[in-house]
Amino acid sequence: MANRVSAYHSTNETDPDKHHVFSDCPNGQQIPAANRRSGTNGWPLCGSCKNMGG
Ligand SMILES: [Zn+2]
Repeated sequence: MANRVSAYHSTNETDPDKHHVFSDCPNGQQIPAANRRSGTNGWPLCGSCKNMGG
């Protein structure tokens, strides 16, 4: 089962301007802890998170 968490995003400007809501999102999992921030940053939901039911 997908594990829903508080919205988070990457501060790395080379990453897509999307936010994530599942801790096991394959895109979200590629964000290193140092680049991970909570919140949407005003960005739309990532496609994988959407497919997972976000
Ligand atoms: Zn995602």
